[in-house]
Amino acid sequence: MTEPLFQPDWAALTARADELLRRLFPLCRSITGDGLRQTLRALAEVTPFDLVEVPSGTVCYDWTIPDEWNVRDAYVADSSGRRLIDFRASNIHLVNYSCPFEGTLTFDELAPHLHTLPDLPTAIPYRTTYYHRAWGFCLTHEQFQRLDRQATYRVVVDTTLAPGALTYGEALLPGVSGREYLLSTYVCHPSLANDNLSGPVLWTLLLAELRRRPLRHAYRFVIAPETIGALAYIARNEAAVRALTGGFVATTVAGPGKFGYKQTFRGDDVIDRVVRLTFRELGLDYIEYPFDVNGSDERQYSQPGLRIPVGTICKDKYYEYPYYHTSLDNLDFISAENLVETLKLYLLAIEKLEYDRCYRSLNPIGEPMLGKRGLYPKTGGAIKQKVASSAAHGERRYVVDEGNILYGSELDALRWVLFYADGQTSLLEVAEKTGLPLRQLHQAAEKLLAGGLLEAVGD
Ligand code: ZN
Repeated sequence: MTEPLFQPDWAALTARADELLRRLFPLCRSITGDGLRQTLRALAEVTPFDLVEVPSGTVCYDWTIPDEWNVRDAYVADSSGRRLIDFRASNIHLVNYSCPFEGTLTFDELAPHLHTLPDLPTAIPYRTTYYHRAWGFCLTHEQFQRLDRQATYRVVVDTTLAPGALTYGEALLPGVSGREYLLSTYVCHPSLANDNLSGPVLWTLLLAELRRRPLRHAYRFVIAPETIGALAYIARNEAAVRALTGGFVATTVAGPGKFGYKQTFRGDDVIDRVVRLTFRELGLDYIEYPFDVNGSDERQYSQPGLRIPVGTICKDKYYEYPYYHTSLDNLDFISAENLVETLKLYLLAIEKLEYDRCYRSLNPIGEPMLGKRGLYPKTGGAIKQKVASSAAHGERRYVVDEGNILYGSELDALRWVLFYADGQTSLLEVAEKTGLPLRQLHQAAEKLLAGGLLEAVGD
């Protein structure tokens, strides 16, 4: 039986995820401001990471950190003072980053500032105006249709846009291999669940879990507002980012739909391969999306001067679900259970990164005799042997039991690891070629190392 590298208490993790989703969903986040800061502080209570404040006006390549945005109140009221569109009812009613405004407007004057979704008439759209000083409100199309065209409206946008800071979080988990991987997520959307509160919650639980054990590789965790936050982070850590081997941007991880994987810009990087193998080993159906310049912060990390391959494992990918960027992307749409299912995939992919390495046989000619070293296994029952012997080359050659513990023929694993121990073929490649689980190949390699039959190559 091969034990997983990461064995969290899944029920406790699910309860934790649920609690964080509920607590943080109501906060009004943006690319700067107190909602962002409060969110990061709450997550840093789960497992510590550093908060960094980048002052407004700081130049990050071609971008500048904007003034900090905070909201006291915002509404559109009728002549009797009754609030018809109210920030307190939903923070996405206010266009994110709206500048201050106060006035009495006719319907025709107000209408250009209103945003609705005629095709999804019960949903409030989510809109932003980060880099263009303007104000606006979002409302359901049904609400919009009920507005009196002859009336006048009292509009109050009690916001502040003033020099302050952009806040991001970071943590570095040390490793021994000299290789470092990125685990990034963005945090800037207000009360929207799958995109994007699910990402920061998964990111935090992943950080907490990876921190529980020594790791072979280093992992650089970054949580920042999308685009401008990633640019600020890269600007302050350019040499470290340039040295990254690869990584992930975790986002949209808790929807009810299919798992997805957005490829790195290379498409066949180790990152892509460990994810594909993870899905293959579990026999999980998923949608693979080619790399696209539309998306998230992978574009920043993969730009010409950096070229870090960054992929995304998701569940109901952004752009793909009808509730994307609307008030219907809420806590009813997602679940902590879905989030933890996706977290499991990230952990399994990272386990593969940890276990992937090359070995060299110390008996390259003349196969070593396993029996005299106590390595010839007492092979398992008929089911395993049948699975092993009936699988075609490269197909799955193991059983997935209820606990997702993977196993195949132990003798097969030992023989394949020895066979490919040429110092150049990594365990990832052996797993891809043979259909044996990478975890089991790793365990076989450990036994062969202990038996003096292999040496590890490189880091
Ligand atoms: Zn988004």
